[in-house]
Amino acid sequence: MGSNSSTYRPKCVYLDIDGRIQKVAFNKYCNSRDIMDLFCIATGLPRNTTISLFTADDCMVSIDPTMPANSERTPYKVIPVATEQQTEKEELFQNLLLQVVEQFSRVFKIDELRTEVRNQLAMLEKRVELEGLKVAEIEKCKSDIKKMRDEMAARNNRSNCPCKYSFLDENKKLIPRRDVPSYPKYMLSQETIEALRKPTFDVWLWEPNEMLSCLEHMYHDLGLVKDFNINPITLKRWLLCIHDNYRNNPFHNFRHCFCVTQMMYSMISLCSLQVKLSQMDILVLMTASVCHDLDHPGYNNTYQINARTELAVRYNDISPLENHHCAVAFQILAQPECNIFSNVDKEQFKRIRQGIITLILATDMARHAEILDSFKEILDSFDYANEEHVTRLKMVLIKCCDISNEVRPLEVAEPWVDCLLEEYFMQSDREKSEGLPVAPFMDRDKVTKPTAQIGFLKFVLIPMFQIITKLFPEVEEVMLQPLWESRDRYEELKQIEDAMIKELQKKKNESLTNGNKEK
Ligand code: 5GP
Ligand code: MN
Repeated sequence: MGSNSSTYRPKCVYLDIDGRIQKVAFNKYCNSRDIMDLFCIATGLPRNTTISLFTADDCMVSIDPTMPANSERTPYKVIPVATEQQTEKEELFQNLLLQVVEQFSRVFKIDELRTEVRNQLAMLEKRVELEGLKVAEIEKCKSDIKKMRDEMAARNNRSNCPCKYSFLDENKKLIPRRDVPSYPKYMLSQETIEALRKPTFDVWLWEPNEMLSCLEHMYHDLGLVKDFNINPITLKRWLLCIHDNYRNNPFHNFRHCFCVTQMMYSMISLCSLQVKLSQMDILVLMTASVCHDLDHPGYNNTYQINARTELAVRYNDISPLENHHCAVAFQILAQPECNIFSNVDKEQFKRIRQGIITLILATDMARHAEILDSFKEILDSFDYANEEHVTRLKMVLIKCCDISNEVRPLEVAEPWVDCLLEEYFMQSDREKSEGLPVAPFMDRDKVTKPTAQIGFLKFVLIPMFQIITKLFPEVEEVMLQPLWESRDRYEELKQIEDAMIKELQKKKNESLTNGNKEK
């Protein structure tokens, strides 16, 4: 079993809370947001309050893991700079802004635009809070909104690329957006090519064009271009079109698509799948990974169903997102310039299509237990010659890759949790504002990074990778080990968090008792 042997030496910082000195300890794995959250808890402020830190001589102190430590005699003062409380005026102002957003998103029918504008409005709102703007000064903000509006309109024209395939966009056309990039610019080094085959690959180092080149390399390297007679230029155009049809969500974006596909490529190599499966299976595994979250809107199936969105209505609440990702994938392939399967015969295409559909639909986590159970049923008598067995294996493989961030090294994995929580919070905030049910694991007042990851690691990731280890023992060292280490680390972080909360509670009770005595 994996256990984290490294010892944590927490850093200590002292805060002056209305004359009371509070010691706060955190370790090197806490990021700025985590530390700020700890300070909020220590100060009794709501989590997510933006705060500033000052020394006794009013020097501002940066809040990050390397921040200067202080002593009990030189505590920092905590000043909240943005709270969730709003004055009536600000609320009025916010409503006005939101109306503008609604109007525009209706005109442009683009969710992405709505998110972008919402972000910009959040910044403007913060300014209103920070600078304490009066109603008259709102005129200035209005002019900012006008500028923003113009910019968004221009951006809308740009992003209205003919290669985008949202069902919500009625103006779709079937012409590829960009020319094929010149090849030498995207040559991969031998070092990158080697690293690409392992789950330790740092997925954050690369720009979209470089990730596209890596994906292109994988199709060549696996022999898919040769075996399915894929036109290399069509492959480039297809990949560009795939990129253009992922949205800029915090989590469900093109980099996530790249991660899932790169992990699939690593598993193909680690488990020698090319020896055990057919090239058709490899093609289906890779292509389903590339396409599996196409045009993800950033709000999950539960939201789609509860908000009765166009997607939920279209797919009768049955895996609306996964059905959509898959439909977009085949809309892209229906375009001759992007059809990487143009040289396979009709029968083969039918089988490839069925395989991809099955795998993309298997990524709906609502079907997690069902899919795992049906794989467990056949595991003891697994037969590579049995098509049904292979299909069930492929379904589990894409699921493993889809949720495999925690398999990656700590520095690569951790930022993904922040991305996921950002997307969750965007959804839960919207659910709150629309009066829809909110899942506790998405609620910014209830979830923290450790709580989000511990349950997911213990009850979803580790059991699934343990099952796959039975068929591929080599998975244990390379994939299960990092999962165990991550679980141990998040459990330690959770203990620190709990201890902080407990101590704070104790101090609060003490000061209450003292206050009562004085009376
Ligand atoms: P998707 O197909 O949406 O990319 O992945 C399935 C779902 O699994 C995600 O939407 C997310 O809810 C969950 N998931 C994936 N990775 C993680 C993770 O590292 N932590 C947690 N808590 N959930 C995850
Ligand atoms: Mn995914």
